[in-house]
Amino acid sequence: MTWNPTTGCTKISAGCKFCYAEVMSRRLHAMGVEKYKDGFKIRTHEDSLQIPYSWKGSKVVFVNSMSDLFHPEIPFEFIQKVFDVMNHTPQHTYQVLTKRAERLYELHHKLNWTKNIWMGVSVEDERVTDRIDFLRETSAKIKFLSCEPLIGPLRNMNLENIDWVIVGGESGRKARPMSEQWVWDIKMQCQEQEVAFFFKQWGGVNKKKAGRELAGMTYDDMPLHP
Ligand code: SF4
Repeated sequence: MTWNPTTGCTKISAGCKFCYAEVMSRRLHAMGVEKYKDGFKIRTHEDSLQIPYSWKGSKVVFVNSMSDLFHPEIPFEFIQKVFDVMNHTPQHTYQVLTKRAERLYELHHKLNWTKNIWMGVSVEDERVTDRIDFLRETSAKIKFLSCEPLIGPLRNMNLENIDWVIVGGESGRKARPMSEQWVWDIKMQCQEQEVAFFFKQWGGVNKKKAGRELAGMTYDDMPLHP
């Protein structure tokens, strides 16, 4: 499931080039959807804060597929409200992903990290590996990397205190290619440093056809709960 208590964002690094959220926001704006009346501008949505209380059973929730929760324009008070909801609905598992790792680090000690909150940073190439260092220092119980879209090699990563690495290639008409060697390099580092490895997709123009096998195998490891 996805839950979007905030919408909108601005680009920060090369991984943002073909941002899905930007394309979708403009499409929803053109369709007249009220929540996207300001397109891709940063907006907070108080009325969306109640949504997780209405879900039956336990859900796995991707938080903010249409935004970045730690964007500097999102007030800390609102981030805290999002965390309050996650803290009060322990039956759901929330995956929060950001490219604003430095702000995450600045704010983490003011937030309540219940074990149902998995915190991740995007790492698309070696220019942004400092995000891993910021994440490592936070109090999140489960920490993960999303190496997607992987657009360059990631050698010699320090995966200490990291629980899970997801790798995927970019998809779409202008998708930047992902080398098989980059994927193997990351897989080996996960193996050596005992980190769960999940291979999501090759991507490309026809991502269904390209599939998600690596030398005939699928890799679907998940992090262990603490
Ligand atoms: S940080 Fe994420 S949501 Fe924001 S522009 Fe980049 S890819 Fe899009």
